[in-house]
Amino acid sequence: MAKYTPMMEQYMSIKNDYQDAFLFFRLGDFYEMFFDDATLAARELEITLTKRDGGKQNPTPMCGVPYHSSSNYIKNLIEKGYKVAICEQVQDPKDAEGVVKREVVQLVTPGTVMESNMLEERDHNYIASLTYFPDGSYVIVYSELSIGENSIALITDGWDAVMHELYNQPIKEMVIGSDLPESIQQTLAEKLQLTLSYQDDVSFDAEFRDLCANLNDERLVHGLSRMLNYIMTTQKRSLDHLQPVKLIELDHYLALDMYSKRNLELTKTLMKKGKQGSLLWVLDQTVTPMGSRMLKKWLDRPLLNQQQIEARLDIVEGFLRGFMERDTLRETLKSVYDLERLAGRIAYGNVNARDLIQLKQSLGQIPDLKTILTQFEQQRITHLSSQLQFPENLMTLLDAGLKDDPPASVTEGGIIKDGYSTKLDTYRSASTDGKQWIAELEQKERQETGIKSLKIGFNRVFGYYIEVTKANLHLLPEDRYERKQTLANAERYVTPELKEKEQLILEAEEQSVDLEYNLFMTIRDQVKEHIPAIQYLAEVVSQIDVLQGFAAVSEANQYQRPRFSDQLLSIKNGRHPVVEQVVKDHAFVPNDIQLDRETDILLITGPNMSGKSTYMRQLALIVIMGQIGCFVPCEDAELLLFDQIFTRIGAADDLVSGQSTFMVEMLEANHAITNATENSLILLDEIGRGTSTYDGMALAQAIVEHIHDHIHAKTVLSTHYHELTALENSLDKLKNIHVRAEEHDGNVVFLHQIQDGAADQSYGIHVAKLADLPAPLIKRARAILGQLEQHSEVPVADTGQLSLFDQTGETHDESVQESRKDYTIVDELKAVNLFEMTPIEA
Ligand code: ADP
Repeated sequence: MAKYTPMMEQYMSIKNDYQDAFLFFRLGDFYEMFFDDATLAARELEITLTKRDGGKQNPTPMCGVPYHSSSNYIKNLIEKGYKVAICEQVQDPKDAEGVVKREVVQLVTPGTVMESNMLEERDHNYIASLTYFPDGSYVIVYSELSIGENSIALITDGWDAVMHELYNQPIKEMVIGSDLPESIQQTLAEKLQLTLSYQDDVSFDAEFRDLCANLNDERLVHGLSRMLNYIMTTQKRSLDHLQPVKLIELDHYLALDMYSKRNLELTKTLMKKGKQGSLLWVLDQTVTPMGSRMLKKWLDRPLLNQQQIEARLDIVEGFLRGFMERDTLRETLKSVYDLERLAGRIAYGNVNARDLIQLKQSLGQIPDLKTILTQFEQQRITHLSSQLQFPENLMTLLDAGLKDDPPASVTEGGIIKDGYSTKLDTYRSASTDGKQWIAELEQKERQETGIKSLKIGFNRVFGYYIEVTKANLHLLPEDRYERKQTLANAERYVTPELKEKEQLILEAEEQSVDLEYNLFMTIRDQVKEHIPAIQYLAEVVSQIDVLQGFAAVSEANQYQRPRFSDQLLSIKNGRHPVVEQVVKDHAFVPNDIQLDRETDILLITGPNMSGKSTYMRQLALIVIMGQIGCFVPCEDAELLLFDQIFTRIGAADDLVSGQSTFMVEMLEANHAITNATENSLILLDEIGRGTSTYDGMALAQAIVEHIHDHIHAKTVLSTHYHELTALENSLDKLKNIHVRAEEHDGNVVFLHQIQDGAADQSYGIHVAKLADLPAPLIKRARAILGQLEQHSEVPVADTGQLSLFDQTGETHDESVQESRKDYTIVDELKAVNLFEMTPIEA
């Protein structure tokens, strides 16, 4: 049987270690892929699939990408969630006996990319790891390699809490142990759509010591070790660019369950999954990518501590007052590059001179920023000014060392300023002197030969030469020059003198390029020492950016500063921050809301499409905005500090796929009632509608009673079951409210106004009419409704909201069937418009 060639044997043995990655196998100027890798890559990258005779009968599928344009292909695969193992020749072919040695030098994965062209500017790129402990606890680590940041959280209240924490985080890759239960792995891959990577070696390496010095729990150290081992093995380099891990104390933040993160559309919308239409879309008035990323973090973890919130609000207020200065501030911030990611790349060691010039330009803005900040009256803002420490030494270093417009390459010179190194200056003047000498030589030769068109040129192959056109050749003295090259209409010559100078010039240039490279490396290493200072600057600048952004939106939309209370939540004329931006043709109708000692629960009734869920979402968004330290859309707000928000709003989608709508509803409700405290906010939109009427109503009532009697969480719920409004009589902390609607000429007009008391009418049929159901059908529905209202003994499907679709055609209710004919006359009567009739017609 035919064997594979030795090279293919080598390929297969390496591929064996990287089963879950594309193996980019370096062959000359290409990275080649074989077998299944090739077939898949050809499809994903739209490149040609060819065949190679690898020594077996069946030719091997193969495809390849050129080495120098490989980064685009790698990027493409990474964005699709794949991993790419870069396998290089690690031996000079001259030294090789047989096949040249090859090794994987880096495993590029979605969570470990560092290159700025592969990263989303305004988004974090987390690699996360999950470790499970026999005591039922979990440790999550988040690393953002492009900025060297690590954070860690311990979760002790079960798997659900892990899901809620991970949901909606910008995680590109998840590192786990292969012993993690299969069902959990499946959930991570399918429900959260994470790219999984395995790391079973979790041994502690001495290199980790500094990174986890502040961790006082074995589980945390263990969890972090998994992540660090993974980074070390895939990146094959030291970890010294990583910052010590930060502990996320989850109970220091307002907890949002995954339903809330999703339903409230904080950073992306439900339908389009894009930023547009989300709260972030309205609030993001930041001008730097760092600020934008920080805003997302804040939205993900609103604060609980009133002092911290007030501190942010003070700054926003200060920025609002000094609006002239704020304009200048924004302009200055725009000139600050992404210091955070620059610091990450400096630490990681892959910056070029252009990056350092960006750093220099950004640092150059710091003194201006400091001055502007001192012009605001608010003390916290002037304090920010003093927090911005201008790194004088670093600036001097960059300024003295680097030219302002260096090339992207660090190996071709043109980087270091004159006067920075005497040695470099000597080489440079040797080279310029030589060139000067050559220019003079050209003059001299022209004079001596009398050939005006004689010129001295340079090319890479022959070096410097003297060129004389064929027409002038007769003017040249015999034997004066040595002929080097013949062109169509000219001859090129050299002289020993010229060659000697050339040697000097080229040597000087080569040496100066080498020296520049070394000088650049030294500067780069010196800059490294300033990384903590740069990171701190980045942090402060990001905060300033987010808060000036809050001031900008607050001003544009007339938001108000909220106050916090421990008694009462009262919002006057509150608005939904996003809906008010998108309802253009008709102005948004503001509404009040009040929850206090006497009222824990608000029960909203009102027609479909009248604005019930908007009202509930609006409350949650105002609460979140307040707790991240932003002003809020209303005339006046007194808020409670909530510890958690639970929502069951909107259509259930594929989040828990394979479950019925009703099951999802019950899961969400159960999650809320098992975890809520009296300091939580619960929003339930039409709970129980997913099942038959009595079931649903009974469950809804039981849930409300449970919350009322045992949890005491502030709760707003909407319902179709008018029967529930009677709960006001038995539950003393429940209050009915409704959305007002008016009927004009048989058409319902939604006023979107919330009022006290229960709604007295449901407008389901009017809504159906708005939805353009056929007129005869609507007519028939009215008739049935009329009858149902008279025959109260008939099981009323849902007095609140008739299900039109079940009953428009054949109804199984015999009394309704029988009465069908009788009612055609009533039908007609109902349809006439008395206002347009004469008395006689009537
Ligand atoms: P419901 O939950 O009662 O079915 P929604 O809250 O979904 O109704 O609101 C339906 C639509 O009515 C929204 O998409 C929005 O355009 C509009 N709307 C809701 N509340 C208001 C309001 N306060 N002012 C203006 N328009 C509103």
